Amino acid sequence: MKIGIVKDILEANDMIAEGNRRLFKGKGTLVMNLMSSPGAGKTTLLEKSISALKDRVGIGVIEGDIQTELDAERIHKKGVEVVQINTGGACHLDATMVSQAIEKLDLTNIDILFIENVGNLVCPAEFRLGEDMKVMILSIAEGEDKPLKYPLMFHESQVLIINKIDLLPYCDCDIMRLRENSLKINPNLNIFEISCKTGRGLDVWYEWLIKKVGGRH
Ligand code: MG
Ligand code: ZN
Repeated sequence: MKIGIVKDILEANDMIAEGNRRLFKGKGTLVMNLMSSPGAGKTTLLEKSISALKDRVGIGVIEGDIQTELDAERIHKKGVEVVQINTGGACHLDATMVSQAIEKLDLTNIDILFIENVGNLVCPAEFRLGEDMKVMILSIAEGEDKPLKYPLMFHESQVLIINKIDLLPYCDCDIMRLRENSLKINPNLNIFEISCKTGRGLDVWYEWLIKKVGGRH
């Protein structure tokens, strides 16, 4: 039966994710699983965050993409450790891919590990990787109805970053409605409004991150 098979896959994934989680915990590494649809700004947000924070905290990145090492090259230029995963067609990362990637990282010096998931608003939310939290990015050009249409991602995330707010004058997105819809799905969401383009709102995000890392030492 199809449902049974899907359940088995997710259970097997959860076991490996638990192993990853224990490893991260042992090293004192805070792990964020960054999810969004393609083009919402995951890699750009990482570039900005690394530049702003790398002198204060140790940062590492795992890049997930179906093809190419383009994002890993961008992150490498920022001077932090990065590993690229190519899923070769799979539209999400799973715990096994991440467990293989972390063998190539020295977690000892990494306070925050960002795992940039494959751009996709659906199944990344179903696969635990061993992360401490799921962080999703939505750009306002995607519209205020997305929490209602793709509820799982909003439900599973602890953080929602609304990006590209500099585009508000050119988009029909009602940002108050977007916030409302998001909180309807998940009342506990921490919501940040940012523009990676203008830098607006980024300081608040950085300070929140620093506090999260500090709380673990
Ligand atoms: Mg990317
Ligand atoms: Zn998928």
